[in-house]
Amino acid sequence: MVQRPDPLESTPPAFGEQAARQILREGFGVEASSLKPLAGERDQNFRVDTATGQRFLFKISNPADEGPILAMQAAALRHIEQVDPGLPVMRALPTAAGESWVEVPGPDGRTYPARLFTFLPGQVTPSTALTAEAMWSHGQITARLGRALRGFFHPAADYEILWDITRLPSLRPLLPHIPDGPRRVQVESVLDRFEARVAPVLPGLRAQVIHGDMSLDNVLFGDDLRVSGIVDFGDMTHAPLVCDLGVAVGDVLHGRDDAIEAADAIIGGYVSVTPLEDEEAGLLADLVAARLATEVTVTAWRRGLYPDNAAYAATGEPGARAFLDAIEAMGIDAVARRFREACRRLPYRRSATSALLERRRRVLPRSPLFYSDPVHLVRGEGVWLFDPDDRRYLDCYNNVAVVGHSHPRVVQAVTQQQQLLATHSRYLHEAIVELAERLQSTLPPELDAVMVVNSGSEANDLAWRIARAATGRAGAVVTACAYHGLTEATHALSPEEWAHGERPAHVATIPAPDGYRGLYRREEDGWVERYAAHIDDAARALGDRGFAAIYLDPAFTADGILSPPPAYLREAARRAQTLGGLVVADEVQAGHGRSGSHMWSFQASGIAPDMVAFGKPMGNGFPVAALAVRSQLLEAVPEEVELFSTFGGNPVACAAALAVLAVIEEEGLMANAAEVGSYLRHGLLSVELIDEARGPAAGHARKVTEAMRERGILLSATGPAGNVLKIRPPLVFQRQHADLFLDVLDEVLASS
Ligand code: PMP
Repeated sequence: MVQRPDPLESTPPAFGEQAARQILREGFGVEASSLKPLAGERDQNFRVDTATGQRFLFKISNPADEGPILAMQAAALRHIEQVDPGLPVMRALPTAAGESWVEVPGPDGRTYPARLFTFLPGQVTPSTALTAEAMWSHGQITARLGRALRGFFHPAADYEILWDITRLPSLRPLLPHIPDGPRRVQVESVLDRFEARVAPVLPGLRAQVIHGDMSLDNVLFGDDLRVSGIVDFGDMTHAPLVCDLGVAVGDVLHGRDDAIEAADAIIGGYVSVTPLEDEEAGLLADLVAARLATEVTVTAWRRGLYPDNAAYAATGEPGARAFLDAIEAMGIDAVARRFREACRRLPYRRSATSALLERRRRVLPRSPLFYSDPVHLVRGEGVWLFDPDDRRYLDCYNNVAVVGHSHPRVVQAVTQQQQLLATHSRYLHEAIVELAERLQSTLPPELDAVMVVNSGSEANDLAWRIARAATGRAGAVVTACAYHGLTEATHALSPEEWAHGERPAHVATIPAPDGYRGLYRREEDGWVERYAAHIDDAARALGDRGFAAIYLDPAFTADGILSPPPAYLREAARRAQTLGGLVVADEVQAGHGRSGSHMWSFQASGIAPDMVAFGKPMGNGFPVAALAVRSQLLEAVPEEVELFSTFGGNPVACAAALAVLAVIEEEGLMANAAEVGSYLRHGLLSVELIDEARGPAAGHARKVTEAMRERGILLSATGPAGNVLKIRPPLVFQRQHADLFLDVLDEVLASS
């Protein structure tokens, strides 16, 4: 580490006008027609105008700024000019002798370096005059400067300066200079938190030479309120990149009543050029607080040291105090969340939960919400979901996020592909082909054709069209409380969602194989065969329409989550196929490894369905679904009929689906599902709530789900009577999550 006398501890230069003119003349061959002093904390700055209309910035530096530091600044400016010539930074002008600066004796006998730069247009603008666009521009320029300095190296960059916010803890001895007691305590708590949470992770952050002071004093704005100049490279140092943004946010928003809200714009501008890494984004609020604490502390200290310069030293400080107060009032964790969100550049604004609920009810009146007190979610990670206050919920009811919420592999696959290409499947592309091949490799060989669509409903709807075309029949068989989709055709196949009295004439139902409560019980010999035999009655009931297809969700997820022995599906498929009906296995809910033993839940029975529908978990939240079918069946759809869906099989959706399949395999999620699943009630997927007379207790189930939600656990209820607790977590669910779930469930059941 290069040690240098700290310029802040040394008196700023105080050359008279005549002396300055003489240096300009002798050192740079410039005759000033006018010389206007400009503000400077530790340097002396002048605006120089010449008779020929040229304008320069003349800077007499503090003697503490030694040769290596000045050489670094000159080299950095040259580097920036080369990398991003459009960045509005000064160009250093050589001395008459071709050097970067001249050294001049000062009135106090010390030697002062003097430099001449091009003059940048624009002016220092108060925070309160800045529009959101101006702040955005500031953020953007800050990021561009960071990028321009990315490849810059200089041995002198390794020096210490008080304004380097990473050195906040070293200011502790200066705290007694803060005269106001409560203020001192506030700053102290920023320091304590910084030491505990920030300092330990700083060494792991992206670091480089940074500007170090992107404050409003050093950024000029033009009349259009866009940044027209960045000045003062005197605080440049090697430090985490994100510190430049921390300083910018801290300083630019000084004195604004809306400081925290306004930060969105400056952060947004920054990340539009340089996205932040998660760790950096998470530390931003602490870095802003560090900047403010630095300002309050250093100002208090300097006020004592240089009472003559106190007016300058104090310019920003009341704003810093106000901003610190605003952070304290909101709570630094809440500010940190807000800043972290701003780093994500979401195209919508956060809204308070109650206001959001009202707005939603107005514009989305038929869009259902879980729970009497709906859960407002802002992010997910693994098995956890988080609300705006960062309260976390254990997600036990989400087969969509099969590999865990926000799985980085899937996120990356989607973003990378979206950046590259997002078009439809009428162009030749690898992703859809590879996805179809990957799906096929997991299926019986007869299922040799794949169609990629957007939702489970669409997959089942397409299956229905194919079944009708291939069989020339028009009737369907489904289980009594099945759900297969939302479209007109699949709604007809979904008794769970039929209105009272609704019963489409072309659909016949069979009882689901419920060995606990249904017509036939597990204790009886041949109970599964008896259930399967209902298919014959149903087919007969279809009459002249004929039996085109039976849809079976092998886990009967809407019928109460049943896991009949494999013999049931074998017998059901045999009977259906004997009657000429096609078998559609609906894996939309139960597939993608959830059974723990097979990728697809029908596989345990060894049947060969005619079609298999995939959906929900397929893209881990990205909409993608598919239908696998025997290609022979497709021949019934006339050639001239194009089977195409605009978004179906687009490269982004396929990238998501391929990433999900890869993660299930690579992370051994099927084995995990088997292990944790069996731990969680020895493979039991559902808990049925009954009253003492063995009657279903739907109201009780609802109460339990509400009580679980209150305690931070999300689950739901299902089944014909709505009395079955449905537990369907992401497959990354671990034993400790199962333990937590069981403990809370015990507690809730005991108290309800
Ligand atoms: N089939 C089953 C078994 C389902 O659970 C669902 C969705 N709950 C669907 C089909 C319909 O899928 P989507 O909502 O994606 O249209």
